[in-house]
Amino acid sequence: AGPLPPAAGLEDGDRLKATAVASGKGLERGGAPAGPASQDPPPSGLGTNKLYLADTYRTETPAVVVEVEPVPESGDLKVILDKTVFHPQGGGQPADKGVLSFPGGEFRVSMVKEDRSTGLVFHFGSMGSGSGSLEAGTEVDARIDPEWRSVCSRLHSAGHAMDAAMTALAVSGLTPTKGYHFPDAPYVEYAGTLAAEEKDSLQERLTNELQSIIEKQVPSKVVYLSAPEVLELCPGANVSIFPEGAMIRVVNVGGCWCPCGGTHVGNASELERVTVTRIKAKKGTVKVSYEVTGCMSKK
Ligand SMILES: [Zn+2]
Repeated sequence: AGPLPPAAGLEDGDRLKATAVASGKGLERGGAPAGPASQDPPPSGLGTNKLYLADTYRTETPAVVVEVEPVPESGDLKVILDKTVFHPQGGGQPADKGVLSFPGGEFRVSMVKEDRSTGLVFHFGSMGSGSGSLEAGTEVDARIDPEWRSVCSRLHSAGHAMDAAMTALAVSGLTPTKGYHFPDAPYVEYAGTLAAEEKDSLQERLTNELQSIIEKQVPSKVVYLSAPEVLELCPGANVSIFPEGAMIRVVNVGGCWCPCGGTHVGNASELERVTVTRIKAKKGTVKVSYEVTGCMSKK
């Protein structure tokens, strides 16, 4: 396999760059956002049907190839499906990896990206040796690596739990700005400053608060809201990045609401153990590094 396709690197770490779903009509909800009837996205008809938004634990789906295009720079292929379980890289979360298998062989997916203007999900990769060709109309079985999905979901969800722990500890003046949820050295970053005496004790207090959230087994929630509703729930959220009138996906992991298009654990208990390993405060940013049991890559 050649190098990754252009622009396949870490696109951005902005956790607020969440998923919006254009919708002709408002999402019907029974009451407060805390009690949604369904985690399914509202129907949009735009782009690839993204099954990972509705179910973190779904690892496989039959799908139909819509388009196959060569990527000359890398020698890879770019495949578009009608629906997918593959989560694209973005919001600080790595892409899923896996295979599209079909009677003629196998296509190995090594990178997944979303075109935000069209909502299409691109599966980049190469054919397995001896495989026949993949073309529009081919029926495939799309399967992600379930262990890698679990690692990505847990690392990413721990970032949300960190925000929840910060809120619970009433650490004031910090605004979450960036998250990096890869297994080599995950961290979340906040804009703001910390008093020296607060910083010294924060590492231990955060780790303890995270453990408390995990032991309370806080269930995760997903709702779709209009921009004004998002601002009510998450004051300060940057809703200007979403198309006007779109329903915005907002998640609650560990007790904290945040617009997000990632995959999340269903319950904070699945995080098992999150340890804050380092807090670095410099020039108006506070970087909190952490580890999640069973998720770390060897250095
Ligand atoms: Zn998220």
